[in-house]
Amino acid sequence: MSKKIVILGAGYAGISVAKELEKHIGKKDIEVKLIEKNSFHTLRTELHEVAGGRVSPEAVQVDLNRIFKNSKVQVINDEIVNIDFDSQKLLSNSYEYAYDYLVISTGSRPCCFNLPGVNEYAYQLWSYEESIVLRNHIYSCFQRASKITDREERKKLLTFVIAGGGFTGVELAGELAEWKDKLCIQFSIKKEDVTIYLVEALPSILNILDTKLAKKCEARLKKFGVNVLTECGIQSVEKDNIYLSNQKKIEGTLIWTAGIQGNPFIAEMDIKCDRRFRVEVNEYMQSVQYGNVFSAGDSVSHICDGKPLPQVVETALQTGNHIAKNILNIIDGKEIKAFKPNYHGVMVSVGFSYAVAKVMGIKCSGFIASALKHMVNIHYLYMIGKVPLIMDYIKHQFLQKRYCSKLNISLSVEPEGLNEPNTV
Ligand SMILES: Cc1cc2nc3c(=O)[nH]c(=O)nc-3n(C[C@H](O)[C@H](O)[C@H](O)COP(=O)(O)OP(=O)(O)OC[C@H]3O[C@@H](n4cnc5c(N)ncnc54)[C@H](O)[C@@H]3O)c2cc1C
Repeated sequence: MSKKIVILGAGYAGISVAKELEKHIGKKDIEVKLIEKNSFHTLRTELHEVAGGRVSPEAVQVDLNRIFKNSKVQVINDEIVNIDFDSQKLLSNSYEYAYDYLVISTGSRPCCFNLPGVNEYAYQLWSYEESIVLRNHIYSCFQRASKITDREERKKLLTFVIAGGGFTGVELAGELAEWKDKLCIQFSIKKEDVTIYLVEALPSILNILDTKLAKKCEARLKKFGVNVLTECGIQSVEKDNIYLSNQKKIEGTLIWTAGIQGNPFIAEMDIKCDRRFRVEVNEYMQSVQYGNVFSAGDSVSHICDGKPLPQVVETALQTGNHIAKNILNIIDGKEIKAFKPNYHGVMVSVGFSYAVAKVMGIKCSGFIASALKHMVNIHYLYMIGKVPLIMDYIKHQFLQKRYCSKLNISLSVEPEGLNEPNTV
């Protein structure tokens, strides 16, 4: 009987597992199913470009049928609502899927640390839908502000507070600062009426980066007119009112990028998780509870060399690839191997043409780092879908008209429910 391997979630981790296993289908007696609730893979690291009006939403969607065209991996478009680990089945609202080996790669979600009002009133940037909701909100703030004569009211509508100085917050602040200039021209608004804050509770932003590069990013943001507030937390939020730990109040829109946790769906399953809803795994990336269940990417909780595995793309790709090899080893009766991460670096963009990067020990900034980031994205797309995906990337990033204008954002055509926080 062939061994059934089911991968849950087609993010960076799930695709990495499937791509490695794909090479062995037909040579080994395995069946591989990849179950994903969307029909596409989301290029999550580029969501800020959608929210900041730089690229169209299609730029971050890769149709799964294109990635697995002519492949023996079975791609199933379904949402799993329960997992029965005893009978080894995944359940959706209409089907059940049996497995011999399961890989959980359901990613993460923002974490609001139960701060009053954040969940209700803050915009978030983690899913494809949220990036469109945020983009539409920003656009509509400028559209509405252009019709308001009371300057104080107009300024309130044009105040944006981004909570979290990690790479999501910094990249979004950079995009928004660039888009703001275009929107001011489009709606005849004075630039001085727009205020963008980046608020970070720690003494510095981008703590994942080397201090010198983090400082360069901060300087670039300031040059763009972003107010960077460090050692300043968000205490609570009401509709349009944001209360800071320094006792100040800002009236405007809050965009929450300050915390991350595993997918809450996993916390409801009968599997051992940490307090942030990530599956506890051993050094083989195997659940500490079930030997035939593995977890990859953002849904992993594991301490490696004294530090938790970071929730970044490299962790997703490397854990995914490693798990595929370990599952094949188990099937072949060979020894499984401990996971050893091998990080190559970090890259953070601030707008279209500026980035900082530390890759394989080499630090760079400016246009070179920005070009490097594009090269890394192109390399990833080549790995998963070869030349056609690269052509799409070039089209969306470099050839299409940049910055949404009246012509390509028509708020009236967005589906209902896509214009409020927390509808997704
Ligand atoms: C704006 C932004 C910028 C970022 N920038 C960077 C960066 O520059 N560099 C970097 O390394 N990292 C960055 N990250 C983090 C990076 O995106 C994540 O670490 C990465 O996406 C994790 O991959 P994953 O496969 O674990 O999860 P995901 O990519 O989140 O994939 C999980 C998949 O599971 C699916 N799924 C979930 N639940 C179910 C279910 N019940 N049934 C079926 N399918 C389900 C989801 O639809 C999704 O497709 C950024 C993140 C954001 C939001």
